Amino acid sequence: MLLKAQKVMTTKNGNKYHLQDCRYAKSDASATDVKDALAKKYVACDVCKPPTKPDSDGKQCSAKTKDGGRCSRMTSSKNGKCWQHSN
Ligand SMILES: [Zn+2]
Ligand SMILES: [Zn+2]
Repeated sequence: MLLKAQKVMTTKNGNKYHLQDCRYAKSDASATDVKDALAKKYVACDVCKPPTKPDSDGKQCSAKTKDGGRCSRMTSSKNGKCWQHSN
């Protein structure tokens, strides 16, 4: 299994973010990155204790994809690019 950025769940009604299997992450919850949840002022759930920092072992690749979007791979390389874009 590939390691990828951990997703957390945010709900429309509430100011907490959750792990995907938390019982408080209900059907209206949507997956987002920890970074984004924090940026939107969500706080970590006391019950499921999701990570309170964005992934420390990598950051999002800074390269653009062919269709103009941001590459969504995570990388820990110094140049900020994933394996696909670092060459
Ligand atoms: Zn929770
Ligand atoms: Zn990339």
